[in-house]
Amino acid sequence: MKKKNEPSFYESVQRNFDRAASHTKIPSGLLAQIKECNAVYQIRFPVKIGANYEVIEAYRVQHSHHRAPTKGGIRYSRKVTQEEVMALAALMSYKCAIVDVPFGGAKGGVKISPREYSTAQLEKITRRYTTELVRKNFIGPGIDVPAPDYGTGSREMAWILDTYMVFKGGEIDAAGCVTGKPVAQSGIRGREEATGRGVFYGIREVVNDAELMNSVGLEVGLEGKTMAVQGLGNVGYHTAKISSEEGGVKVISVAEYEGAIYNKSGIDIEKLHRHRARTGSIMDFPGAKNLEQRKATLEVRCDILVPAALENQIKKSNANRIKAKVIAEAANGPVTADAEEMLLKKGVIIIPDMYINAGGVTVSYFEWLKNLSHMRFGRLEKRFDQNTYLNLVNLVERQTGKSIKEREKTVLARGADEIDLVRSGLEETMVTAYGQIREIMHRKKDVKDLRTAAFVNALGKIASDYINLGVFP
Ligand code: GLU
Repeated sequence: MKKKNEPSFYESVQRNFDRAASHTKIPSGLLAQIKECNAVYQIRFPVKIGANYEVIEAYRVQHSHHRAPTKGGIRYSRKVTQEEVMALAALMSYKCAIVDVPFGGAKGGVKISPREYSTAQLEKITRRYTTELVRKNFIGPGIDVPAPDYGTGSREMAWILDTYMVFKGGEIDAAGCVTGKPVAQSGIRGREEATGRGVFYGIREVVNDAELMNSVGLEVGLEGKTMAVQGLGNVGYHTAKISSEEGGVKVISVAEYEGAIYNKSGIDIEKLHRHRARTGSIMDFPGAKNLEQRKATLEVRCDILVPAALENQIKKSNANRIKAKVIAEAANGPVTADAEEMLLKKGVIIIPDMYINAGGVTVSYFEWLKNLSHMRFGRLEKRFDQNTYLNLVNLVERQTGKSIKEREKTVLARGADEIDLVRSGLEETMVTAYGQIREIMHRKKDVKDLRTAAFVNALGKIASDYINLGVFP
């Protein structure tokens, strides 16, 4: 709930926009155009639930039409409001610009708590919502492309695709009307882990940045850093799992809906995931202690805090109790504008949502490209590469007279699969975007935090698109 004096999520986004805008030379009229949501569609539709009809409240907001299609997830949550969806849609525009994904930003929201409905009822709601979008031309591979968000996943995306096909079956690129689909239904390998994996690559960039690490008194490098994670949903789970398994990070605290746990020697995320699937809760996990309150995870002493749940989690009332040196905003908007001011004064590094969680939409972009090309990545070149590498390995073997083991040959002469290409493209995207953000901080000495720099980067790109379109001379 919004506390008195606490800015709303939308207000925080607008305030961050204004702060960044003051560091640019973009004309005020163009800034005003970039800032506003271009189209807001509010829908109420009836769905028969049991013996009764329920009127469902839903939204789709297209924040920016400077590029087509617009892109962004669909959220199912009791807390959905028009303002929240507007804030999320705006973040999508900036996010896409930062990682050079050529889309405008959008977001959808359906005001329901998925836990309160059966699978069949959720399917009915999803199909009806999609129908409403088709009716108003708010969905399509060249118009607006939804994806999963809080409370939705590949199952919902499959229902959306199927409903869309009922209306647009003959459309050659219909599969690109939604992303985050199951792999067997025109999805792409690596989309599910993408946001978490992107968070991992982004954190790795920050902790390898000597200048930033010096400023908070941490050693350079990921290995051995402590991490606390709020939310073990898709994003939190993959961030924690990949950071510990591939980065050597120690996850010491995890919070979920039902409570929070702590273990200073580290929590095995895969085991915790299985424990939760078995018992329905993260509590009473062997070796870890239960914390009194779930919000305690936000306040534990750790190097990296990953809020991976919802917006407005770190606010004026608890910002002073945060002990982390680095906050990676895996969720959208977890730190309010007021809390950010307090944390920045303390020297905390905040890696902004619009950069750090952009891995999801990046791989969504790859999925959309795959759908438009009607072919799996790697299909053309994999065997060719494999044969070329094998010829090279055999040549080395002949020239040196030393034999190379068959197992080593297979590893050396491997062509890339779809998952390898997706991960490589994602890593490249996160590394390049980080470089651009840091370059802005080096060039503009009065830009001192990552969010402002990321925003300045996004605003510059969107503004130049508008200028190239001839909308603003
Ligand atoms: N819902 C995700 C986000 O907030 C993904 C959006 C997408 O893939 O289009 O970035």
